[in-house]
Amino acid sequence: MLMNLTDVFTSEGKDRKESLCYEPDSFLYMGNRYRICEKSLIDIEFANIETGKALMKGSMNLVLEIPCDRCLQMVKEPLEIRFEQELFSPDAGAQVEDQDGQDFMHGYGLDVEAFINGEILINMPVKVLCRPDCKGICRVCGHNLNEGECGCDTFVPDPRMAAIKDIFHAGKEV
Ligand SMILES: [Zn+2]
Ligand SMILES: [Zn+2]
Repeated sequence: MLMNLTDVFTSEGKDRKESLCYEPDSFLYMGNRYRICEKSLIDIEFANIETGKALMKGSMNLVLEIPCDRCLQMVKEPLEIRFEQELFSPDAGAQVEDQDGQDFMHGYGLDVEAFINGEILINMPVKVLCRPDCKGICRVCGHNLNEGECGCDTFVPDPRMAAIKDIFHAGKEV
């Protein structure tokens, strides 16, 4: 969806508000596609700063389904997107170096979806846990340990400890 911003770039003092639908129902992140189970409209406000330059402000809320890092159970992860971005028209020549990374601008048109995709990306949570003390899954049988113990012998020697032991033994031999 390309939104024509010619009026905002060319009319001094121009102010324009829009409410738009974000069409995708999933989001691709590092090779995984996550379902968007809730989303608000995108509220955007454009204000002319000077000819060829505008300020865009807005917000959108969405809820993504992301698997828990430890037990892989789906977690509903709310994201609150708040953005403020200066936009430049293609003929704002002197400020051309400020347009770096504005790949969501196509001439006088703003690709709202591409811009929002970028905002979702920078708001993606680094770590997702179903609960802070998630116990994860058993490495032997795959049982979800939040639902109780499975009784497997899950003792796995820590490889770092093994390395320290090797150093210790090596030292003894000298
Ligand atoms: Zn979990
Ligand atoms: Zn087990």
